[in-house]
Amino acid sequence: MSLPDAHGLTRDEWRAALTAWGEPAYRLDQLLEWLYARRAPAWDAMSNLPRALRQRLSATWSLRSLELVTRQASGDATQKFLWRLTDGALIESVLIPASPALYGEASDRHTLCVSTQVGCAYGCRFCASGLEGWRRNLRPEEIVQQVLAVEQWHAARERHEPALATTDPRSRVVSNLVIMGMGEPLANYDHLLKALRILNAPWGGNIGARKITISTSGLVPQIRRLAGEPEQFRLAISLHGATDAVRDRLMPVNRKYPLRELVAACEHYLEHKGRVITLEYLLLEGVNDAPDHARALVQVAARLRAKVNLIPYNRVEGLPWQQPATSVQEAFYKLLVSGGIQATLRREKGADIDAACGQLRLRSERSETRS
Ligand code: SAH
Ligand code: SF4
Repeated sequence: MSLPDAHGLTRDEWRAALTAWGEPAYRLDQLLEWLYARRAPAWDAMSNLPRALRQRLSATWSLRSLELVTRQASGDATQKFLWRLTDGALIESVLIPASPALYGEASDRHTLCVSTQVGCAYGCRFCASGLEGWRRNLRPEEIVQQVLAVEQWHAARERHEPALATTDPRSRVVSNLVIMGMGEPLANYDHLLKALRILNAPWGGNIGARKITISTSGLVPQIRRLAGEPEQFRLAISLHGATDAVRDRLMPVNRKYPLRELVAACEHYLEHKGRVITLEYLLLEGVNDAPDHARALVQVAARLRAKVNLIPYNRVEGLPWQQPATSVQEAFYKLLVSGGIQATLRREKGADIDAACGQLRLRSERSETRS
């Protein structure tokens, strides 16, 4: 039986644990400094904690619940990490050079795309993550660890390649987070929020809430709940169709929460947060790429004062969908812009390494099954 991971606790929970052990109050900040600011890989490295406390901590908590299975780098510097969890399940994270136009402010650093579940229960017809169904929710520490493990990988690489090194031992590679990896984040709401609070806290990951984007396929009650949270997380909706006819065909979730309800929930979010929502729109040949589809999208986006990210589809082995020709993509984009919508046509990042949602894991699981 493996120990629980130390990165699933809030500051208050650590304070309670250390107080129960009779530790002086100042230990709390010392410990959190080692866990987050210094990202210590081992309890023994925490040199200003007494040996007895280190032993007690190491008998109670583990520091690493993810094991790196493979890392793939693509030509555009996107890096994809495949992790094995303590129960053997596989998840993935993707590190993408910061793309200021898409999410958040300009930065010389990177956006990390993290997973929130093993598999996904929502079964969108085009998506690799849903293909093999849902296995389980990630625990808060498994979400937090994706960020820390990438930071540790980055720090180790800097040590081995001095030319890349910065003099600041606390330099970070991850400046922005997008919750767009495997799984439906809002279906794992409590664990997601706890993890994001740890990643957002000044004592923890110290990543600003405005630099964290949560993407959902459209879980209406949870969008409303998120609107009531104090943090200013960004919201992205995987729309992919601006009519019920198109969404019903692609996304079973739309039968439960049709477009009218989804748009109303987004308006509610907008009223409470005053933050621009992003609509993600996959372009699928012959499905949602005609001028009428663009005009329907203009209406929804205008009503929500939303930005639109057009995403050329990344092919999934075994699925029939294709991305439209570049000329069709550009014509679609122009119709949005001439309709007064702020839009981007996303260049595929990491297409050569299966960077889209769930694809690397799917391939590894299939080859593990075969071998
Ligand atoms: N479940 C959430 C977040 C994870 S999916 C959601 O659906 O929003 C993250 C994004 O990747 C979604 O917009 C999803 O539609 C998109 N996506 C899934 N499969 C893709 C593929 N093959 N090519 C490009 N984008 C894909
Ligand atoms: Fe799940 Fe999102 Fe993939 Fe749909 S697109 S199956 S909600 S991960």
